[in-house]
Amino acid sequence: MSILSVLGLILVGLHFGIPGVYFSYLRRQVNRSWNLHADPGYLPMVVVIVPTYNEEEMIVRKLDNLDEQTYPHDSLSIIVADDASEDKTRSLIDGWIQAHPKSHLTFMSQQKRTGKMPMVLSVLKKLDPKTELIILTDADAFWNKEAVSNGARYFADPIVGVVTGSIQYEEHGDSQEKTYRGFYNILRVAESKIFATPVHNGPFLAIRMSAFEKFGLPDFAGIDDSALGSFMAFAGLRAIQVDDVSVVEPSRGSLFRRKTRRANRLILNFSNTRKNAERLGLYKRTSFEQIWRMESWLHLFNPWLLLLGALLMAVDVVSGRGFRLALLSLTVGLVLFILPLYRTWIAQQFYLIVARLRSFVTHDITWRR
Ligand code: GDP
Ligand code: MN
Repeated sequence: MSILSVLGLILVGLHFGIPGVYFSYLRRQVNRSWNLHADPGYLPMVVVIVPTYNEEEMIVRKLDNLDEQTYPHDSLSIIVADDASEDKTRSLIDGWIQAHPKSHLTFMSQQKRTGKMPMVLSVLKKLDPKTELIILTDADAFWNKEAVSNGARYFADPIVGVVTGSIQYEEHGDSQEKTYRGFYNILRVAESKIFATPVHNGPFLAIRMSAFEKFGLPDFAGIDDSALGSFMAFAGLRAIQVDDVSVVEPSRGSLFRRKTRRANRLILNFSNTRKNAERLGLYKRTSFEQIWRMESWLHLFNPWLLLLGALLMAVDVVSGRGFRLALLSLTVGLVLFILPLYRTWIAQQFYLIVARLRSFVTHDITWRR
């Protein structure tokens, strides 16, 4: 038996053991109470913001979907913020507005593309001061009819700053995505019940307007959905993923690109958001701190234990010294690929490692489909 194999095995054991302990702890938290005063009678003024860039395939279905919300229409308006789309998006939106003259839809567009978050931030500066809640959403995301009604009621409690929806897997999508979502929804909701989750979803991200007045617009580089939620959590507000707002995001474009983009954003969130909150003097210590520490570890460092451990064992196999132990472990590691959750987990580690390497080289997360 060689020392390298034993060390490798320990690293791999920690790689699976640390999240294993955390997840089994969270699993027991998922059924606890929200410890919040949610009130279905609370009906704030809501503005839904849909940033778009070349969304001709999805935009009509998206607007129809928003039109079906059960929330009182007098308290709900929609802003589509189009960023110099080069396809039929703009004319489709104009057509939709003409066909729905009673809808509360405002169409904004600009000539030069600035990117999703910069455009959203500029829209926020121009909002009607009566707006109490904004909901950011992607054009390729479809909500349950009760999404706004269900999401809004949590804001009856002033401690709530952000509510994000749970992403559901679409019937005919790929099974890896399904496993990934089912698993993470449980974790995110459990973290949210404890205090807040650091991961938030572009398909539905509701934010209390007064939080921006209090803490300022989070106008820093790399800001995205998760960073916005984490930022509010550091400022002392609950930023929660709830299970009664569900969104479907049909998969489109290359899976690899989508996954690496998602991983890139998470890496940037975990490397920067806390520093930003501290820099602005907004940091408040809550039980979010422990969640953040664990999730930072899981995103920034934990994937490397697996890589390093596997490499050490591979060295032993090749050199023939710890041959049997290393070969056995590596074989078990490969056989486990028949389990979907394991497969998804390993793929996720791979994306996180690639994204972390990328983050040292470039901070560019410009959108590409
Ligand atoms: P995902 O976050 O990986 O799912 O990326 P998507 O391609 O679904 O983009 C999320 C949302 O942002 C969609 O509604 C896009 O149309 C929109 N979007 C992407 N790029 C831009 C941009 O440059 N400007 C604006 N305003 N919206 C954009
Ligand atoms: Mn999308």
